[in-house]
Amino acid sequence: MKLVYTHPNIAILVQAYSPIEQAEIECVLRNEYASGAMGELAPINAWPEVWVVYDTDFVRAVSIVETSHRAVEGQDWQCAQCTTYSPATFDTCWQCGGERF
Ligand SMILES: [Zn+2]
Repeated sequence: MKLVYTHPNIAILVQAYSPIEQAEIECVLRNEYASGAMGELAPINAWPEVWVVYDTDFVRAVSIVETSHRAVEGQDWQCAQCTTYSPATFDTCWQCGGERF
């Protein structure tokens, strides 16, 4: 088992998960119900996660995630201060609180 991707926003996580699943790579979601219940961000250790079952699929799964991210470009934005990506619905960086611009 290897962690491929994690994101506080389940909608964005599913956008990464779906194409992996469609590529017939064995993968699982973890913590999928951990966030969003109260409209608040879960602590980082409870973020939804995508895992591949077989380590040999890891590189392929990561490249699929990167490809799917390029396809939905404009959804996430990158913080100028810490280079972390935040969901489009955020006006400030979830990591450092930096302003979006
Ligand atoms: Zn930041």
